[in-house]
Amino acid sequence: MRPTGRLHLGHLVGALGNWVPLQDTYDCFYFVADWHALTSEYADTSRIARNVYDVVADWIGAGLDPEKGTFFVQSLVPEHAELYLLLSMVIAVPWLERVPTYKEQRETLKDKDLSTIGFLGYPLLQTADVAMYDAQFVPVGEDQVAHLELAREVVRRFNKFFGDVLVEPQPLLTTFGRLPGLDGDKKMSKSLGNTIHLSDTEDEVRKKVRQMYTDPKRIRADIPGTVEGNPVFVYHDAFNSNTVEVEDLKARYRAGKVGDVEVKTKLAIALNAYLEPIRQRRSAVLARPGHLREILFEGSKRARAVAAGTMDRVREAMKITYK
Ligand code: AMP
Repeated sequence: MRPTGRLHLGHLVGALGNWVPLQDTYDCFYFVADWHALTSEYADTSRIARNVYDVVADWIGAGLDPEKGTFFVQSLVPEHAELYLLLSMVIAVPWLERVPTYKEQRETLKDKDLSTIGFLGYPLLQTADVAMYDAQFVPVGEDQVAHLELAREVVRRFNKFFGDVLVEPQPLLTTFGRLPGLDGDKKMSKSLGNTIHLSDTEDEVRKKVRQMYTDPKRIRADIPGTVEGNPVFVYHDAFNSNTVEVEDLKARYRAGKVGDVEVKTKLAIALNAYLEPIRQRRSAVLARPGHLREILFEGSKRARAVAAGTMDRVREAMKITYK
């Protein structure tokens, strides 16, 4: 995950929430991709390092356990840059230009000049990130499937030249699609300013929910409303564990027998109940000075030991070892 700021509910349902159960079944590596953040944030790097700590506090808040998996920072394992460089020798530029997000992101983030080598090479660096740990699986959403497909092609091409050195990763697809934003946009996203953070206070959650976009046709409570695709109900489905309450609200909404205020008040209560244990674990870890730093340095050391082994194998296979 990139350290672009505090994490929001979209990250939770689309990524983080799916990582939590994996830690009990797999040998997991979770890393904060500070170099990947640079691909789009290079003009202002002032917040990246601080964001790293926010992201990891959010991970622990969401239930990831640094005792079960390995947490590390990408730039603390510089072997990733070496593997990226070596992979770049056998990969043609059009392979990267063809990745759908390359064109899409350049068009979406018009205020940034993304015609850099770093941005073009982003999926290749991701390949190095994954191949470094002989990853069998990568838990991804639909938006990352093309990147993983590229990673598999890169590994195959590298292995064609140098033997069976790197492992082809498989996607472990997350089931949840995209969480819409508070404003009804199809995606909750930091750049759109339509988020609820995992670290928002109860009051912030209440305020944000009160201003949420709902069915614009419903100018009065007695007008029947649409539930499908309505972000207020998407959130109820995702975060309100009281399904009886949710079904009752939906039925009354469709019949024009409930006001938005009631639907939103109940949503804010459900969200706050959902977020409370996350907030508590988050503040507990932040209350221990130096603890996050220790987790990241310790984890990065462990990751680096694995990376050193992979790079020995890679250099050996490429015959660039010196004795
Ligand atoms: P980003 O910080 O935008 O790079 O997001 C990291 C990952 O979080 C993405 O690859 C998605 O899988 C997930 N994610 C971010 N926003 C959302 C959202 N609104 N709905 C679902 N998943 C999301």
